[in-house]
Amino acid sequence: MEYADLHVHTNFSDGSFTPEEAVAAAGKADLAAVSITDHDSVEAIGPAQEAAKRYGIEVIPGGELSADAGRREIHIMGHYIDWKDPQFRERLKIFREVRLERAAKIVRKLEELGKKIDFERLVRTYGKGSLGRLHIAQEMLEFGYARSIDEVFERYLGDYGPAYVPKQRLQPSEAIDLILKVGGVPVYAHPRISHRDELIPRLAKEGLRGIEAYHSEQNPSVSDHYKRLAEKYGLLVTGGSDCHGKGKSEVLMGKVRIPYELVEKLKDAGKDIQAQRA
Ligand code: AMP
Ligand code: ZN
Ligand code: FE
Ligand code: FE
Repeated sequence: MEYADLHVHTNFSDGSFTPEEAVAAAGKADLAAVSITDHDSVEAIGPAQEAAKRYGIEVIPGGELSADAGRREIHIMGHYIDWKDPQFRERLKIFREVRLERAAKIVRKLEELGKKIDFERLVRTYGKGSLGRLHIAQEMLEFGYARSIDEVFERYLGDYGPAYVPKQRLQPSEAIDLILKVGGVPVYAHPRISHRDELIPRLAKEGLRGIEAYHSEQNPSVSDHYKRLAEKYGLLVTGGSDCHGKGKSEVLMGKVRIPYELVEKLKDAGKDIQAQRA
């Protein structure tokens, strides 16, 4: 039986692996396919696909967008996107610029809280990709302000933390549209982290095609719950580890894997979307 991990970050967002290292790790985990799903960036996909030829692995071009859902943000991923689309790439570039400005705001808030970090170094180290909270958390550990990434999020950077700053204000329907326009299959990422199940019927009407029922932070009973919701709303089921390389306490590559037949369904959905687009 063949398996896939459909949620993987590289160092073009807040993962620690280069695209080549991510593909090598996927090979080591004996995966047939991985979807590279960086936040607001598709820059890893080309190099990952190139490396994948050496391992006989399928690299699915993907991405993860943040959308504003009132109280908190939700994440919408896209699989099988036309990652070379110039307009889409330009849009992502703007999202990354907004992230830089946001990081500066977060760093200012931290300084007000007496936790000064070096913004120039942050940008030098991580600024070539999508700069995010995980990077800031890593810098805070360097400065000894906490003992773990989790502690940083709990005390400062979490969605309700004192140094939290929202990103660009993109509506979920706009995130779905952006993905559909480049022929991608829009999927609601790690729904349990967001705790906004009541949004699912509307998202489905707006063009959502799948739910990430399997995820590192969703236990089997949670996955069952989302499999039922997927069935109820006519959505596909996907899953992935949300591997950030060594960016989190453990390398998660392949720790959440789904049977390849689910990938086939996703691929068919992508073909439908691409046919409508053409
Ligand atoms: P950003 O896109 O900058 O808002 O950062 C989002 C990323 O921060 C997520 O992809 C996670 O990797 C990480 N993150 C968010 N909340 C937490 C948390 N409570 N604990 C650890 N990491 C988190
Ligand atoms: Zn991330
Ligand atoms: Fe996410
Ligand atoms: Fe993610």
